[in-house]
Amino acid sequence: MLAAEAAYDALQAGRQHDELTAYPAAFEQSWLYKELLQAKNFKQWFKKGRTTATLMTGIEQWLLPKLGIRNPPWTIHRVKPDHVYLKPAAECEKIVYPKPDGKLTFDRLSSVFISNTNHEENQPAHLTLKDASVPVNINWEKYAGPESRYCPAGVYEFVQNEEGKERLQINAQNCVHCKTCDIKDPMQNIVWVTPEGGGGPNYAGM
Ligand code: SF4
Repeated sequence: MLAAEAAYDALQAGRQHDELTAYPAAFEQSWLYKELLQAKNFKQWFKKGRTTATLMTGIEQWLLPKLGIRNPPWTIHRVKPDHVYLKPAAECEKIVYPKPDGKLTFDRLSSVFISNTNHEENQPAHLTLKDASVPVNINWEKYAGPESRYCPAGVYEFVQNEEGKERLQINAQNCVHCKTCDIKDPMQNIVWVTPEGGGGPNYAGM
């Protein structure tokens, strides 16, 4: 709403090509900005264990506000990118999820259908690989093909070729632009670029 209001004011004033500086200024005055500042360390504290997290979150979100301090005077930064935390499959217990019941839980492709995602068939692929051998030789062998599980749209599928060997099939048409693969791919081998204008999910009911 803040962005929309800033855009509306700019259009009303005939400013169609300038930067919407009113938007970040309005955001910094909003309740949302204050809430986000207060919770800025929440996730990072929980990475340090439940006891530390409970204590520090209590200090930051209960004690400091009582003293009139809404922005904790310290910031805990993440020092490693997300993808380095992925463990090899051999170190993990396999989780067996119940099948979707079609009432409360749904399979991925029916949810992708609801997203109305679409990309022109003949546009350049917006998902490519730096090295085509990595998905099978590393991701499949060491991590049991995580891209086939974390992608919410079933874009990455390991299928068997005629010789019975795995190969990665990329159904880029289904991509809902969450960018999880860009962040989570353990070898950072997936190249995600913005597709042609108009492509992607279209949540008509939102
Ligand atoms: S951005 Fe990546 S993970 Fe997300 S839907 Fe598209 S292909 Fe799947």
